[in-house]
Amino acid sequence: MLEKLKDHFKEAELICSKCGRMVEDGERFSVTLVKPSDKQMPVGQLDKMLAKRAVNISCSDCSGEAS
Ligand SMILES: [Zn+2]
Repeated sequence: MLEKLKDHFKEAELICSKCGRMVEDGERFSVTLVKPSDKQMPVGQLDKMLAKRAVNISCSDCSGEAS
């Protein structure tokens, strides 16, 4: 049970806020972030940080980017 929970949190899933699709590796996407103060500055892997911090995520389809 605990191991499963750990696995879940290990996966940083970036989900598109508009269509609910998961942003895949190598895909271009857009995020809206709030600038953190120096004390709250997130460190670590970018995808994990974004999954936690992003206000809005748009996949390549929804952000209008052609990939
Ligand atoms: Zn989307």
